[in-house]
Amino acid sequence: MANNLKKYNKKRNFNKTKEPIGKKKKSSQKLRFVVQHHLARKDHYDLRLEWNGTMKSWAIPKGPSYNPKDKRLAIMVEDHPISYRNFEGVIPKGEYGAGTVMVWDEGYWDAITKINKSFNTTMFKFILKGKRLKGAWTLINFKDDNWLLIKEKDEYYEYQDIKKLNKSIKTNRTFTEIKNNVTNTKTSIKNNIIDNITITNPDKVIFDKPLITKLDLAIYYHKVGKRMLPFINKRIISTIRCPEGIKKDKFFQKHLDNNNKGIGKIILENDNNNKEDYYYIKDISGLISEVQRNSFEFHTWGSLVNKLEHPDIMVFDLDPDENLSIAKIREGVKDLKSILDELQLKSYLKTSGGKGYHVVVPIKEKMTWKKFRETAKNIAKIMEIKWPDKYTSNIRKNKRKGKIFIDWVRNTRSSTSVSPYSIRLRNNCPVSMPIAWRELDKIKPNEIGIKDAIKRLNRKDPWSDFFD
Ligand code: ATP
Ligand code: MN
Repeated sequence: MANNLKKYNKKRNFNKTKEPIGKKKKSSQKLRFVVQHHLARKDHYDLRLEWNGTMKSWAIPKGPSYNPKDKRLAIMVEDHPISYRNFEGVIPKGEYGAGTVMVWDEGYWDAITKINKSFNTTMFKFILKGKRLKGAWTLINFKDDNWLLIKEKDEYYEYQDIKKLNKSIKTNRTFTEIKNNVTNTKTSIKNNIIDNITITNPDKVIFDKPLITKLDLAIYYHKVGKRMLPFINKRIISTIRCPEGIKKDKFFQKHLDNNNKGIGKIILENDNNNKEDYYYIKDISGLISEVQRNSFEFHTWGSLVNKLEHPDIMVFDLDPDENLSIAKIREGVKDLKSILDELQLKSYLKTSGGKGYHVVVPIKEKMTWKKFRETAKNIAKIMEIKWPDKYTSNIRKNKRKGKIFIDWVRNTRSSTSVSPYSIRLRNNCPVSMPIAWRELDKIKPNEIGIKDAIKRLNRKDPWSDFFD
């Protein structure tokens, strides 16, 4: 019986296939399961049950049946990594498992029979809590790797005919649609078209370590677009443009100089009563058209263009004095969170991609910029008063000796902060990445790059309830 991921990794060439690389992970409390409909040399369904950090897997040629009279052959195959459960797409010809994979069902499962850690069992009953598969089932091992999957009689008995369910539970696509989608994406990338925008000079090197081209960045922003847009869409932006790579000149861009697709314009009067053009992204094509003209780092206002005078995203940046240890910075983040918790303000954490962390607070209450700024300032002041030897709310560098400056000043009208998911035009192309609070001690401020950021999209979004 297969019980580790070595077999899985050995069979796959990770330079050719897009399937996730197998790493052993700690099981979370709730055990996940997935059924992937796999149109390979032989059509079959793969049932995968999370167990002890991996996914126990069976290939079921006829698929599960809701009829308790059916005994469906289920051949135990090698364990799969938990991250594999999200895989839907095409495995190229010549690769192991070549064909098309559809996520057919997903959810949680519970063992009814006691199963030991190493999964030494020849028969067990279990409950599936999926979107399609529900209720009690049994798996019986009758010879070698051959098992039988049988539905138990319960209220889900003869629930439905699974053959009629021919669309992905995740993306609602048929096999043909999954294939077409993959082919379309591939042809587009080959022709340097991302979201209908042609990327010129696609091979231009923006970072040389790791090697990242302009096209790579366009693909990156396209991939993170869904998660990033709620934080950048319809907010005035300023960007950093870097047309010749990070070793050459960088330019700040604050004003509109184009009428590209997906870009909106807004005219504001400045303190001297002069009119100035600002701009914002309206949708994913706006983001990609910005990348096309070499804007790679994105900073946004704390308010939406249609509610410009009522900010809704407050950002605290912890700026440590040089040589302050990472432990002190993390302590600072925790201290700040404790104050925000006391004030009943929910807060979210991201890496800055630079030296520190950003603590971000959604503001529901309708506030003027003046009040918003005062609120932010008062929070930084509380930090300073409570721990005078650790924090300062004073922006002046000479007040920062051995301390952390709690930067609240960016919560001022027309100030900006780097957007979640934006890359930073600094060494190694770090990302300003949303992370979970429990990850604070594990992740350094400049540790997550574009590859890791993309991998993290498969996990639960730590900021999913930001605007709830
Ligand atoms: P670190 O953790 O390294 O301090 P950071 O994001 O906190 O990173 P900076 O990048 O130094 O800090 O930015 C400081 C301030 O300057 C932020 O408010 C940021 O939005 C602003 N800023 C940076 N680039 C631009 C830009 N292109 N246009 C406008 N403001 C910018
Ligand atoms: Mn900072």
